[in-house]
Amino acid sequence: MSELRTVLEKYPDYEAVIGMEVHVQLTTKSKIFCLCKNESGGQPNKNICNICCGYPGVLPLLNKQVVNYAMMAGLATNCSLTRRSQFDRKHYFYPDLPKAYQITQQYNPICKEGHITIRLEDNSTKKIKINRIHMEEDAGKSIHSSYGDASYVDLNRAGTPLLEIVSEPDLSSSFEVRAYLKELHRIVRYLQICTGNMEEGAFRADTNISVRKKGDRELGTKCELKNINSFKFIADATEYEIARQIELLKKGERVVSQTRLWDSKKKETVIMRNKEEVADYRFFPDPDLPVIEINDEWIERMKKVIPELPQKKFVRLCIQKGLTPAEAEILIDDPELAQYFERVSELTPSKSVINWVLRDIMGYLKEHKIGLIECLVTPEKLAKLVDLVEQGKINSKVAKEVFLLVAQKGEDPEEIVVQKGLEQIDSVELLEPIIKEIVSAHPNQVEQFKAGKDRLFGFFVGKVMQQTKGRANPNLIQKLLKEYLRK
Ligand SMILES: [Zn+2]
Repeated sequence: MSELRTVLEKYPDYEAVIGMEVHVQLTTKSKIFCLCKNESGGQPNKNICNICCGYPGVLPLLNKQVVNYAMMAGLATNCSLTRRSQFDRKHYFYPDLPKAYQITQQYNPICKEGHITIRLEDNSTKKIKINRIHMEEDAGKSIHSSYGDASYVDLNRAGTPLLEIVSEPDLSSSFEVRAYLKELHRIVRYLQICTGNMEEGAFRADTNISVRKKGDRELGTKCELKNINSFKFIADATEYEIARQIELLKKGERVVSQTRLWDSKKKETVIMRNKEEVADYRFFPDPDLPVIEINDEWIERMKKVIPELPQKKFVRLCIQKGLTPAEAEILIDDPELAQYFERVSELTPSKSVINWVLRDIMGYLKEHKIGLIECLVTPEKLAKLVDLVEQGKINSKVAKEVFLLVAQKGEDPEEIVVQKGLEQIDSVELLEPIIKEIVSAHPNQVEQFKAGKDRLFGFFVGKVMQQTKGRANPNLIQKLLKEYLRK
């Protein structure tokens, strides 16, 4: 791509109008209408029963936890909760949908009219309205054999619970699309109602994009981007699609309503199918499921389990902990890491904690491919290490060595320093003789330095560090060397 921040800069007369539908796979123990395990993948057709296989005459039984999770999602996105909501049947035929209808909420969804706040590139904020959140069941999976022409059906996923979160078309760039998705992704992870695993399809987004000339009131024809499983690809595909549609309009052609996919190798969207006609799903209220009634007491109970949400945490980390927006952004993306940071910063007032967490802890975890929970540098040990540096007991170079030792063996930083004799050489009495010796052992370099070759200062610092095995106080070395090299 060119230097453009967004492709829209190339077309100042046009604007994009974008809405999103996000499917969130819920992490309940059982499926939405039966007692089968909510686990897809693994051995095909293992977690199935008469209900999720759609046998005639069986009755669905609603999993209350799905309602709890839907209410939590609604509360966290400022929705109003529907006191009496209902399930409807959406009819269509698919080999992996044995009932030939999907149970969803078409007419009376459980959550309506909410919003979330996203942060833009300049750190200003924008409200994106949520039209609705509804509960529904997922379909099974068709597996097409790569040998011969056989297809198989795996119904493990049939009847697993989903939330569909539908935004208003309030988004107007690929940046906003990405920011919105990331924020929703954080919210469902904070609520612990979804794993957020995009590769496994636990969090999947469809993007509806149309463009129009600025000032036009009517919406353009939209295309839907489907089945794209990473934030980056969704943003890339959105950029591409905006440009494709604007180019069509500029040529006097029209945009055809289509479902399109993203080819990440060619970096372009490709047509999956035309959708000129609106499908008629013959929706009607499901007579087998009762109206879901929600009362104040239930809502209050759900409000109590909502944790601090990402945007609130972001503001608090910036204001209370003095982090930069970039630092806070990394932490809110990883609630465990944020918790770790907060624990360390409760134990030591040092301002360097955030650097240790983002640079050393994250670096170590990445290098050794382990999770924070397996990391032997507990918040208490990191706080001690940071304090040893702050108090001048070890210098920052030695601190790195100690950090690695703690990470490898889980020993106490203070004990490591004592055992290995790593205390900082911090007194003039100890350091002066070493510096004297080094200066007198290198008369040529001293002469050159005095003649103006300033770079040689580093040579002497290096020698002292070598001699003291890196333990000398760097500030004191500088001070003493300056004295001795002037003499
Ligand atoms: Zn079942």
